[in-house]
Amino acid sequence: MNIHEYQAKELLAKYGVPVPAGYPAMSVDEAVEAAQQLPGPLWVVKAQIHAGGRGKGKFKELGPDAKGGVRLAHSVDEVREHAAEMLGKTLATVQTGPAGKQVQRLYITDGVDIEKEYYLAILVDRETGRPAIVASTEGGMNIEDVAHESPEKIRTITVDPATGLMPHHGRAVAAALGLSGDLAKQASKVLASLYKAFLGTDASQIEINPLAVTDKGQLMVLDAKVGFDNNAEFRHPDLEQLRDLTEEDPMEIEASKYDLAYIKLDGNIGCMVNGAGLAMATMDIIKLEGGEPANFLDVGGGATKEKVTAAFKIILSDPSVQGILVNIFGGIMRCDIIAEGVVAAAREVNLHVPLVVRLEGTNVQQGKDILASSGLPIIPANDLGDAARKIVAEVKAPVAA
Ligand code: ADP
Ligand code: MG
Repeated sequence: MNIHEYQAKELLAKYGVPVPAGYPAMSVDEAVEAAQQLPGPLWVVKAQIHAGGRGKGKFKELGPDAKGGVRLAHSVDEVREHAAEMLGKTLATVQTGPAGKQVQRLYITDGVDIEKEYYLAILVDRETGRPAIVASTEGGMNIEDVAHESPEKIRTITVDPATGLMPHHGRAVAAALGLSGDLAKQASKVLASLYKAFLGTDASQIEINPLAVTDKGQLMVLDAKVGFDNNAEFRHPDLEQLRDLTEEDPMEIEASKYDLAYIKLDGNIGCMVNGAGLAMATMDIIKLEGGEPANFLDVGGGATKEKVTAAFKIILSDPSVQGILVNIFGGIMRCDIIAEGVVAAAREVNLHVPLVVRLEGTNVQQGKDILASSGLPIIPANDLGDAARKIVAEVKAPVAA
């Protein structure tokens, strides 16, 4: 789960991370009220969408010369003008892709005079299985570009979770950022607070870009992107209220109601599989046979009729789906029960695309018999390779169903 910048900053502030004061606003009036509560003389009006690159982003409804999604204002009136121009418009950035995202919230925050911008992040490094601190002197830029053009300017420091964050990590970060004296001390403190927040919220990443040195010689977090590990959601009921469903894919939200792991992809073959590993293998073999999966979908261990029906509906609501491959291993759940579920679900959703089903496991023969005698145009497959070949052939040369 990801959250907005203003939510991330409120959260980080509770852990002692230095952030400029600011207030969220859902309307122009709220933006003006927010600005009046801040001292000035510089304000920043920031579009709140779950994507970075807002500063350099473009509003699709405004001309190419219009300002982006992060704007400086020198008066409350100017805040009002920016808010009126930004709210409700679609902001396209390198991270949103060309479709962009509608701006429904703004963040009105104190403007600071920046001396230099740095990059600092904590994330889970899957290679070492440890939290990793990533620090770079090249702040305010897209870190992927820095990694590409000057990888030597990025330092990665891993933390042993058994011993936790140590003073030497703070010194290493300060050195990586080229900071000394009081600023080095501040960097250690900011890092310690971020690390505490990272552990305390079960975050999967905290990215600060930029971490700025102000003209008053203070380190300040000017932008924060925080994501949480969904598997730890149950430990943080208080974080649930930070969720903004308008930022999430509607089909992924629907899938999560049924405990289905669904991720939309670009192809045209819908996949329904039980088990994440089998789902990955199914997608690989579809590609090997020259097809493109339309989604990743794991119905989980207990593929009940309700789940299978919900999964069919979600797959079919994607207009690019031209065929479905069901690949289910009956372990705990027997194949005959799964077959009944597939048949009932196919009837209920009025299936209009070719359907290839591969079942394996307990009671596989009964399962196949149920599919064959259902009267539905279900194409049976014997193994994974066979199933992939059949669905790819169907989608390439579809027969009238
Ligand atoms: P994004 O990364 O989505 O473009 P940022 O919040 O990083 O958005 O803002 C882009 C740039 O705007 C920053 O790199 C910084 O130079 C400037 N900026 C952001 N917040 C402030 C602020 N409070 N005061 C002054 N400048 C800011
Ligand atoms: Mg940024």
